[in-house]
Amino acid sequence: MTVQVDVQTFYHFINGKWEPASSNETFDVYNPANGQVVAKVAKGTAADVDRAVKAAREAFDQRDWKNMKPKDRANVLYAISYKIAEHAEELVYLEAISSGGTLRRISSIDVLQMVDLFQTLAKFTLEYPFSETLPVPPFPGPAHNFVWREPIGVCAAVTPWNLPMWIATWKIAPALAMGNTVVVKPASYTPLATLKLAEIISSVVPPGVINVVAGPGAEVGEALVSHPQVDKVAFTGSTEVGRRIMELASKTIKNTTLELGGKSPNIILEDADLSIALPGSLFGVFLHSGQLCESGTRLFVPDKLYDEVIQGLVGLASKLKVGNPLDPTTDIGPVISKKQKETILSYIEAGKKEGAELVCGGKEVKVMGCEEGHYIEPTIFANVTNDMKIAQEEIFGPVLSVIRYSDLEDAIKMANDSIYGLAAGVWTKDVNKAYDVARRLQAGTVWINDWHMLRNDAPFGGYKQSGIGREMGKHSLDAYTQVKHVHTSMVPELDRRNWYGILFGQN
Ligand code: NDP
Repeated sequence: MTVQVDVQTFYHFINGKWEPASSNETFDVYNPANGQVVAKVAKGTAADVDRAVKAAREAFDQRDWKNMKPKDRANVLYAISYKIAEHAEELVYLEAISSGGTLRRISSIDVLQMVDLFQTLAKFTLEYPFSETLPVPPFPGPAHNFVWREPIGVCAAVTPWNLPMWIATWKIAPALAMGNTVVVKPASYTPLATLKLAEIISSVVPPGVINVVAGPGAEVGEALVSHPQVDKVAFTGSTEVGRRIMELASKTIKNTTLELGGKSPNIILEDADLSIALPGSLFGVFLHSGQLCESGTRLFVPDKLYDEVIQGLVGLASKLKVGNPLDPTTDIGPVISKKQKETILSYIEAGKKEGAELVCGGKEVKVMGCEEGHYIEPTIFANVTNDMKIAQEEIFGPVLSVIRYSDLEDAIKMANDSIYGLAAGVWTKDVNKAYDVARRLQAGTVWINDWHMLRNDAPFGGYKQSGIGREMGKHSLDAYTQVKHVHTSMVPELDRRNWYGILFGQN
């Protein structure tokens, strides 16, 4: 039996208030676990984006927000973290019923990471070099020189549906830490928790500092990233849309951070401890039904271990329970939509056609009581070659491609033979060997004997077409500031300013 939930209506969050769409239209948000409508959300237009950007601009230009002292700003970030903790249950629920993430994951990872992110950035804000003094130069004359770091202004955040509220905080937290204001455009599948988050944050920041406008990417997203009063754009999503956003942002030369797709290589070395490498590799690829950009989707296995690894992976994967994400016994929930399910199934067909050997899963699953949900079995292909479509394109579903290698040099070459470079991993008992492999992997994050270990104090982002810039950690703060050099001459006399002679000669 399917449980009915109340269908709530959510408006935009602009200038500290809930605001209906200028068109008065709404769109439906569905639960991917059972296909039910769970909310109606204001369908934004370019006019709504304009209202939100103007509110953010005014909050940046007119109010004291950007001039707040680091200590006070750190206190605001701590206050936000406590508010998120206070509202954790509601946030987790809204996220689960719209994104299809398991309750187990969202409550034990996402929401705790969000709290910790604001607290970590609060600490970094206290130590941040907002003003650095340079040494007095010997030439051409003495001067005081400073490097100041200042907020950029109005920041647009365009966010995806896989980890919607957590990824929104990767952009909101550093933006606020550095004194910017923000307008978020959440993915249309999953705007609920982000809208609630804006209300929560707004209870401790001035109106206009945080705004959320929901609606279609092609209209609301494009209007936001093109808006002349937006100074920075941060995006997480597909490489294709990232390219479009970069193009639109380039018209007014906006500072841009992009976190895009991945096809992350995971290399098991001959001496790896398979008792952790096998569950670890499955954790790396099947968490959130494979809908994580840094999932380890290409597994490189040496000849010597190949059969043992395949057998071990299949044994473990076939025990994973696919089911309703609200059921605490569920290991793998649904994928986000019927469209995404069909895309994944078409990749599975492509893998079979190209000659890969399907050794586990590969089919849609019907979950009792959730018949309209979008579920796929954890799927493993053996005998994949690195040039196959399933080894080169981002599938964003629970599909692992296992590739055989006989020589580590070849494995590293194949690992790097991808347009992407978001993450990579290596499993071995020899840490020195692991560091050597890690140095040679073209990826923004390398995990050794682990996966998915994102840290709020470590940078995250991609090499190659996986993106530009870094989120989280101290590096994320740099991405939300601009640098100003201030020079103060200490030479009051005209006749000691001999560098003026470069223009005036002997006159
Ligand atoms: P998109 O890249 O289309 O969506 C991400 C965000 O961008 C959403 O908020 C979307 O809005 C918005 N958007 C879409 N088009 C535009 C535009 N022209 N201008 C501005 N904003 C826009 O991802 P999809 O939802 O289509 O997923 C497709 C694929 O992208 C997945 O299969 C996966 O491969 C990849 N992906 C990668 C993610 C990552 O973490 N790197 C996350 C999500 C997807 P709206 O929802 O309204 O369309």
